[in-house]
Amino acid sequence: MVQKANTIEELLQDCPVNSIIGDNLIRAWSKINSHKYLYILCSISGGSDSDDMLDIVYRCDKSNKVKYVWFDTGLEYSATKEHLKYLENKYDITIDSYKAIKPIPLSCKRYGQPFLSKQVSEFIQRLQKHNFQWEDEDFDTLYKKYPKCKSALEWWCGIKGNGSQFNITHNKWLKEFMIENPPTFKISNKCCQYAKKDVSHKLLREGVYGDGKIPFDLNIVGVRKAEGGARATAYKSCFDENDSGCDNYRPLFWYKDSDKIDYENSYDIEHSKCYTEYGLKRTGCAGCPFGRDFEYELEVIQKYEPKLYKAVNNIFGDSYEYTRKYREFVKNMNKK
Ligand code: SF4
Repeated sequence: MVQKANTIEELLQDCPVNSIIGDNLIRAWSKINSHKYLYILCSISGGSDSDDMLDIVYRCDKSNKVKYVWFDTGLEYSATKEHLKYLENKYDITIDSYKAIKPIPLSCKRYGQPFLSKQVSEFIQRLQKHNFQWEDEDFDTLYKKYPKCKSALEWWCGIKGNGSQFNITHNKWLKEFMIENPPTFKISNKCCQYAKKDVSHKLLREGVYGDGKIPFDLNIVGVRKAEGGARATAYKSCFDENDSGCDNYRPLFWYKDSDKIDYENSYDIEHSKCYTEYGLKRTGCAGCPFGRDFEYELEVIQKYEPKLYKAVNNIFGDSYEYTRKYREFVKNMNKK
Protein backbone atom coordinates (compact mmCIF):
# COMPACT_ATOMS: atom_id res chain seq x y z
CA MET A 1 0.00 0.00 0.00
CA VAL A 2 1.09 3.55 -0.72
CA GLN A 3 2.05 5.61 2.34
CA LYS A 4 0.58 9.02 2.97
CA ALA A 5 3.09 11.68 3.92
CA ASN A 6 2.92 13.16 7.43
CA THR A 7 5.13 16.10 6.68
CA ILE A 8 6.13 17.98 3.57
CA GLU A 9 9.71 16.65 3.99
CA GLU A 10 8.35 13.11 3.84
CA LEU A 11 6.31 14.02 0.79
CA LEU A 12 9.36 15.34 -1.04
CA GLN A 13 11.81 12.60 -0.12
CA ASP A 14 11.20 10.54 -3.29
CA CYS A 15 10.57 13.50 -5.56
CA PRO A 16 12.62 13.33 -8.78
CA VAL A 17 14.82 16.24 -9.84
CA ASN A 18 12.09 18.01 -11.72
CA SER A 19 10.91 21.48 -10.74
CA ILE A 20 7.42 21.06 -12.23
CA ILE A 21 6.84 17.99 -10.05
CA GLY A 22 8.51 19.49 -6.95
CA ASP A 23 6.64 22.81 -7.15
CA ASN A 24 3.44 20.98 -7.86
CA LEU A 25 3.77 18.67 -4.85
CA ILE A 26 4.37 21.66 -2.57
CA ARG A 27 1.31 23.42 -3.98
CA ALA A 28 -0.83 20.27 -3.73
CA TRP A 29 0.25 19.83 -0.12
CA SER A 30 -0.64 23.40 0.79
CA LYS A 31 -4.02 23.31 -0.98
CA ILE A 32 -5.15 19.95 0.36
CA ASN A 33 -3.98 20.61 3.91
CA SER A 34 -5.21 24.19 4.00
CA HIS A 35 -7.63 24.90 6.88
CA LYS A 36 -9.86 26.58 4.33
CA TYR A 37 -10.78 23.19 2.88
CA LEU A 38 -12.58 20.64 5.02
CA TYR A 39 -14.40 18.70 2.32
CA ILE A 40 -12.64 17.96 -0.91
CA LEU A 41 -13.99 16.20 -3.98
CA CYS A 42 -11.68 14.48 -6.45
CA SER A 43 -12.92 13.01 -9.76
CA ILE A 44 -11.11 9.90 -10.92
CA SER A 45 -11.49 8.70 -14.52
CA GLY A 46 -9.26 5.62 -14.62
CA GLY A 47 -7.14 7.31 -17.33
CA SER A 48 -3.40 7.92 -17.13
CA ASP A 49 -3.58 11.59 -16.04
CA SER A 50 -6.05 10.61 -13.37
CA ASP A 51 -3.67 7.90 -12.09
CA ASP A 52 -0.93 10.47 -11.51
CA MET A 53 -3.34 12.94 -9.96
CA LEU A 54 -4.75 10.36 -7.55
CA ASP A 55 -1.24 9.44 -6.41
CA ILE A 56 -0.41 13.09 -5.69
CA VAL A 57 -3.70 13.78 -3.92
CA TYR A 58 -3.57 10.61 -1.84
CA ARG A 59 -0.02 11.24 -0.63
CA CYS A 60 -0.91 14.82 0.36
CA ASP A 61 -4.23 14.05 2.04
CA LYS A 62 -2.89 13.39 5.54
CA SER A 63 -6.26 14.11 7.24
CA ASN A 64 -8.42 12.03 4.87
CA LYS A 65 -10.47 14.98 3.67
CA VAL A 66 -10.83 13.82 0.09
CA LYS A 67 -13.84 11.98 -1.33
CA TYR A 68 -13.09 10.14 -4.59
CA VAL A 69 -15.76 9.79 -7.26
CA TRP A 70 -16.02 8.30 -10.74
CA PHE A 71 -18.58 9.25 -13.37
CA ASP A 72 -19.87 6.09 -14.99
CA THR A 73 -20.98 7.15 -18.48
CA GLY A 74 -22.20 3.63 -19.27
CA LEU A 75 -19.71 3.28 -22.14
CA GLU A 76 -16.71 2.37 -20.04
CA TYR A 77 -14.14 -0.30 -20.88
CA SER A 78 -14.20 -3.22 -18.48
CA ALA A 79 -10.43 -2.64 -18.26
CA THR A 80 -11.22 0.77 -16.74
CA LYS A 81 -13.58 -0.75 -14.19
CA GLU A 82 -10.94 -3.34 -13.26
CA HIS A 83 -8.40 -0.57 -12.90
CA LEU A 84 -10.64 1.38 -10.52
CA LYS A 85 -10.79 -1.71 -8.30
CA TYR A 86 -7.02 -1.95 -8.45
CA LEU A 87 -6.75 1.71 -7.39
CA GLU A 88 -9.14 1.16 -4.49
CA ASN A 89 -6.92 -1.66 -3.26
CA LYS A 90 -3.66 0.09 -3.91
CA TYR A 91 -4.62 3.18 -1.90
CA ASP A 92 -7.18 1.58 0.41
CA ILE A 93 -9.81 4.10 -0.66
CA THR A 94 -13.38 3.96 -1.95
CA ILE A 95 -14.19 5.45 -5.32
CA ASP A 96 -17.93 6.10 -5.45
CA SER A 97 -19.52 5.81 -8.86
CA TYR A 98 -22.18 8.15 -10.23
CA LYS A 99 -24.26 7.30 -13.26
CA ALA A 100 -25.18 9.60 -16.15
CA ILE A 101 -28.26 11.78 -15.63
CA LYS A 102 -29.35 10.66 -19.10
CA PRO A 103 -27.67 7.57 -20.56
CA ILE A 104 -25.55 8.24 -23.65
CA PRO A 105 -27.71 6.14 -26.03
CA LEU A 106 -30.76 8.16 -24.99
CA SER A 107 -29.00 11.55 -25.34
CA CYS A 108 -27.65 10.58 -28.75
CA LYS A 109 -31.07 9.47 -29.94
CA ARG A 110 -32.87 12.49 -28.58
CA TYR A 111 -30.38 15.32 -29.19
CA GLY A 112 -27.87 13.93 -31.67
CA GLN A 113 -24.51 12.19 -31.95
CA PRO A 114 -21.15 13.83 -31.25
CA PHE A 115 -19.18 14.66 -34.41
CA LEU A 116 -15.52 15.81 -34.71
CA SER A 117 -15.28 17.94 -31.55
CA LYS A 118 -17.30 19.48 -28.76
CA GLN A 119 -17.24 22.90 -30.38
CA VAL A 120 -18.12 21.73 -33.89
CA SER A 121 -20.99 19.63 -32.52
CA GLU A 122 -22.27 22.56 -30.49
CA PHE A 123 -22.44 24.89 -33.51
CA ILE A 124 -23.96 22.26 -35.81
CA GLN A 125 -26.56 21.47 -33.17
CA ARG A 126 -27.57 25.14 -32.97
CA LEU A 127 -27.81 25.43 -36.75
CA GLN A 128 -29.85 22.24 -37.03
CA LYS A 129 -32.22 23.55 -34.39
CA HIS A 130 -33.03 26.44 -36.71
CA ASN A 131 -33.44 24.15 -39.69
CA PHE A 132 -30.37 25.61 -41.37
CA GLN A 133 -30.00 24.51 -45.00
CA TRP A 134 -26.16 24.64 -45.16
CA GLU A 135 -26.19 27.48 -47.66
CA ASP A 136 -23.03 29.13 -48.95
CA GLU A 137 -24.19 32.71 -48.38
CA ASP A 138 -22.62 35.69 -46.64
CA PHE A 139 -23.27 36.35 -42.95
CA ASP A 140 -25.71 39.27 -43.39
CA THR A 141 -27.95 37.27 -45.74
CA LEU A 142 -27.94 34.24 -43.45
CA TYR A 143 -28.46 36.30 -40.29
CA LYS A 144 -31.63 37.79 -41.80
CA LYS A 145 -32.87 34.31 -42.58
CA TYR A 146 -31.79 32.74 -39.24
CA PRO A 147 -31.78 35.62 -36.74
CA LYS A 148 -31.55 33.46 -33.63
CA CYS A 149 -28.22 31.72 -34.09
CA LYS A 150 -25.68 34.48 -34.51
CA SER A 151 -22.56 32.81 -33.08
CA ALA A 152 -23.16 29.56 -34.96
CA LEU A 153 -23.56 31.54 -38.19
CA GLU A 154 -20.35 33.44 -37.41
CA TRP A 155 -18.65 30.06 -37.07
CA TRP A 156 -20.16 28.84 -40.34
CA CYS A 157 -19.19 32.02 -42.22
CA GLY A 158 -15.70 32.02 -40.67
CA ILE A 159 -15.87 35.67 -39.71
CA LYS A 160 -14.46 35.43 -36.18
CA GLY A 161 -11.63 33.72 -34.33
CA ASN A 162 -9.44 33.04 -37.34
CA GLY A 163 -7.55 29.77 -36.84
CA SER A 164 -9.40 28.99 -33.60
CA GLN A 165 -12.10 26.45 -32.92
CA PHE A 166 -14.66 29.26 -33.24
CA ASN A 167 -13.98 29.41 -36.95
CA ILE A 168 -15.07 26.62 -39.30
CA THR A 169 -11.73 26.73 -41.16
CA HIS A 170 -10.18 25.18 -38.03
CA ASN A 171 -11.37 21.92 -39.63
CA LYS A 172 -10.07 21.99 -43.16
CA TRP A 173 -12.71 21.71 -45.93
CA LEU A 174 -15.47 21.13 -43.41
CA LYS A 175 -17.72 23.84 -44.82
CA GLU A 176 -17.25 22.67 -48.41
CA PHE A 177 -17.95 19.12 -47.27
CA MET A 178 -21.13 20.04 -45.41
CA ILE A 179 -22.46 22.09 -48.31
CA GLU A 180 -22.04 19.08 -50.60
CA ASN A 181 -23.09 16.57 -47.94
CA PRO A 182 -25.53 18.08 -45.46
CA PRO A 183 -25.85 15.89 -42.37
CA THR A 184 -28.87 13.61 -42.46
CA PHE A 185 -28.79 12.85 -38.72
CA LYS A 186 -28.82 15.01 -35.61
CA ILE A 187 -25.45 16.18 -34.25
CA SER A 188 -24.93 17.30 -30.66
CA ASN A 189 -22.50 17.29 -27.75
CA LYS A 190 -25.30 16.88 -25.24
CA CYS A 191 -24.28 13.34 -24.21
CA CYS A 192 -21.20 14.87 -22.54
CA GLN A 193 -23.36 17.31 -20.65
CA TYR A 194 -25.70 14.64 -19.28
CA ALA A 195 -23.09 11.95 -18.67
CA LYS A 196 -20.37 14.10 -17.12
CA LYS A 197 -20.82 17.83 -16.67
CA ASP A 198 -24.28 17.83 -15.10
CA VAL A 199 -23.46 14.80 -12.92
CA SER A 200 -20.51 16.65 -11.46
CA HIS A 201 -22.54 19.88 -10.97
CA LYS A 202 -25.31 17.92 -9.25
CA LEU A 203 -22.83 16.28 -6.91
CA LEU A 204 -21.30 19.65 -6.03
CA ARG A 205 -24.76 21.14 -5.50
CA GLU A 206 -25.87 18.29 -3.26
CA GLY A 207 -22.70 18.50 -1.18
CA VAL A 208 -21.03 16.09 1.18
CA TYR A 209 -24.12 14.24 2.44
CA GLY A 210 -26.34 14.64 -0.62
CA ASP A 211 -28.79 16.98 1.15
CA GLY A 212 -27.26 20.27 -0.01
CA LYS A 213 -26.40 21.29 3.59
CA ILE A 214 -22.64 20.89 3.64
CA PRO A 215 -20.94 21.92 0.39
CA PHE A 216 -17.60 20.71 -0.89
CA ASP A 217 -14.94 23.40 -0.49
CA LEU A 218 -12.56 22.24 -3.17
CA ASN A 219 -13.03 20.30 -6.41
CA ILE A 220 -9.97 18.49 -7.81
CA VAL A 221 -9.84 17.34 -11.44
CA GLY A 222 -7.09 15.97 -13.68
CA VAL A 223 -7.08 18.56 -16.49
CA ARG A 224 -3.68 19.18 -18.11
CA LYS A 225 -2.90 22.26 -20.20
CA ALA A 226 -0.87 20.13 -22.60
CA GLU A 227 -3.86 17.94 -23.44
CA GLY A 228 -5.32 20.86 -25.49
CA GLY A 229 -8.96 20.93 -26.58
CA ALA A 230 -11.88 22.85 -25.12
CA ARG A 231 -11.49 21.32 -21.65
CA ALA A 232 -7.90 22.48 -21.10
CA THR A 233 -8.06 25.81 -22.91
CA ALA A 234 -11.00 26.89 -20.75
CA TYR A 235 -8.54 27.39 -17.86
CA LYS A 236 -5.62 29.77 -17.42
CA SER A 237 -3.95 28.13 -14.43
CA CYS A 238 -4.06 25.25 -11.98
CA PHE A 239 -6.34 26.95 -9.46
CA ASP A 240 -9.34 29.24 -9.38
CA GLU A 241 -11.16 30.65 -6.45
CA ASN A 242 -14.93 30.76 -6.47
CA ASP A 243 -16.42 33.43 -4.19
CA SER A 244 -19.82 31.82 -4.04
CA GLY A 245 -18.91 28.16 -3.85
CA CYS A 246 -16.33 25.50 -4.32
CA ASP A 247 -12.78 26.40 -5.47
CA ASN A 248 -11.18 24.39 -8.28
CA TYR A 249 -7.76 22.83 -8.31
CA ARG A 250 -6.03 21.00 -11.19
CA PRO A 251 -2.83 19.47 -9.79
CA LEU A 252 -1.59 18.23 -13.18
CA PHE A 253 -2.28 21.45 -15.04
CA TRP A 254 1.36 22.30 -15.80
CA TYR A 255 2.57 18.74 -16.37
CA LYS A 256 3.99 18.03 -19.81
CA ASP A 257 4.19 14.44 -21.09
CA SER A 258 7.83 14.22 -19.96
CA ASP A 259 6.89 15.28 -16.40
CA LYS A 260 4.28 12.57 -16.31
CA ILE A 261 6.89 9.99 -17.27
CA ASP A 262 9.26 11.28 -14.55
CA TYR A 263 6.49 11.12 -11.98
CA GLU A 264 5.36 7.66 -12.98
CA ASN A 265 8.89 6.26 -12.87
CA SER A 266 9.57 7.73 -9.45
CA TYR A 267 6.31 6.67 -7.86
CA ASP A 268 5.65 3.35 -9.63
CA ILE A 269 2.41 4.28 -11.29
CA GLU A 270 0.67 1.54 -13.23
CA HIS A 271 -1.95 2.40 -15.82
CA SER A 272 -4.97 0.39 -16.87
CA LYS A 273 -4.93 -2.35 -19.47
CA CYS A 274 -6.48 0.14 -21.89
CA TYR A 275 -2.92 1.50 -22.23
CA THR A 276 -0.71 -1.45 -21.39
CA GLU A 277 -2.54 -4.16 -23.37
CA TYR A 278 -4.97 -2.52 -25.76
CA GLY A 279 -2.47 0.14 -26.84
CA LEU A 280 -4.95 3.01 -26.50
CA LYS A 281 -3.75 6.57 -26.00
CA ARG A 282 -6.87 7.71 -24.20
CA THR A 283 -9.65 6.11 -22.20
CA GLY A 284 -13.05 7.48 -21.20
CA CYS A 285 -16.14 6.64 -23.24
CA ALA A 286 -15.35 3.73 -25.54
CA GLY A 287 -15.54 4.69 -29.21
CA CYS A 288 -16.35 8.36 -28.65
CA PRO A 289 -16.50 9.93 -32.13
CA PHE A 290 -14.48 12.88 -30.80
CA GLY A 291 -11.45 10.60 -30.61
CA ARG A 292 -9.13 11.38 -33.53
CA ASP A 293 -8.19 7.72 -33.60
CA PHE A 294 -11.67 6.29 -33.33
CA GLU A 295 -11.03 3.77 -36.17
CA TYR A 296 -8.18 2.23 -34.18
CA GLU A 297 -10.30 2.33 -31.07
CA LEU A 298 -13.05 0.43 -32.87
CA GLU A 299 -10.55 -2.30 -33.81
CA VAL A 300 -9.47 -2.51 -30.19
CA ILE A 301 -13.05 -2.63 -28.93
CA GLN A 302 -13.93 -5.38 -31.40
CA LYS A 303 -10.92 -7.42 -30.31
CA TYR A 304 -10.95 -6.95 -26.54
CA GLU A 305 -14.42 -5.77 -25.56
CA PRO A 306 -16.74 -7.30 -28.19
CA LYS A 307 -19.91 -6.58 -26.21
CA LEU A 308 -19.18 -2.88 -26.43
CA TYR A 309 -18.52 -3.06 -30.16
CA LYS A 310 -22.14 -3.59 -31.15
CA ALA A 311 -23.29 -0.94 -28.68
CA VAL A 312 -20.98 1.84 -29.90
CA ASN A 313 -21.81 1.14 -33.54
CA ASN A 314 -25.50 1.38 -32.73
CA ILE A 315 -25.08 4.60 -30.80
CA PHE A 316 -22.51 6.44 -32.93
CA GLY A 317 -22.80 4.65 -36.32
CA ASP A 318 -24.04 7.71 -38.27
CA SER A 319 -21.29 9.87 -36.89
CA TYR A 320 -18.60 7.29 -37.75
CA GLU A 321 -19.91 7.12 -41.34
CA TYR A 322 -20.11 10.89 -41.68
CA THR A 323 -16.58 11.31 -40.31
CA ARG A 324 -15.23 8.70 -42.74
CA LYS A 325 -16.90 10.50 -45.62
CA TYR A 326 -15.47 13.82 -44.44
CA ARG A 327 -11.95 12.39 -44.16
CA GLU A 328 -12.21 10.98 -47.69
CA PHE A 329 -13.40 14.38 -48.90
CA VAL A 330 -10.41 16.11 -47.25
CA LYS A 331 -8.02 13.63 -48.88
CA ASN A 332 -9.48 14.30 -52.33
CA MET A 333 -9.52 18.07 -51.88
CA ASN A 334 -5.89 18.06 -50.75
CA LYS A 335 -4.91 16.24 -53.96
CA LYS A 336 -6.45 18.93 -56.18
S1 SF4 B 1 -16.77 11.70 -24.16
FE1 SF4 B 1 -17.84 11.43 -26.14
S2 SF4 B 1 -19.26 9.73 -25.89
FE2 SF4 B 1 -18.57 10.36 -23.84
S3 SF4 B 1 -20.14 11.69 -23.16
FE3 SF4 B 1 -18.60 13.00 -24.10
S4 SF4 B 1 -19.16 13.19 -26.27
FE4 SF4 B 1 -20.40 11.55 -25.39
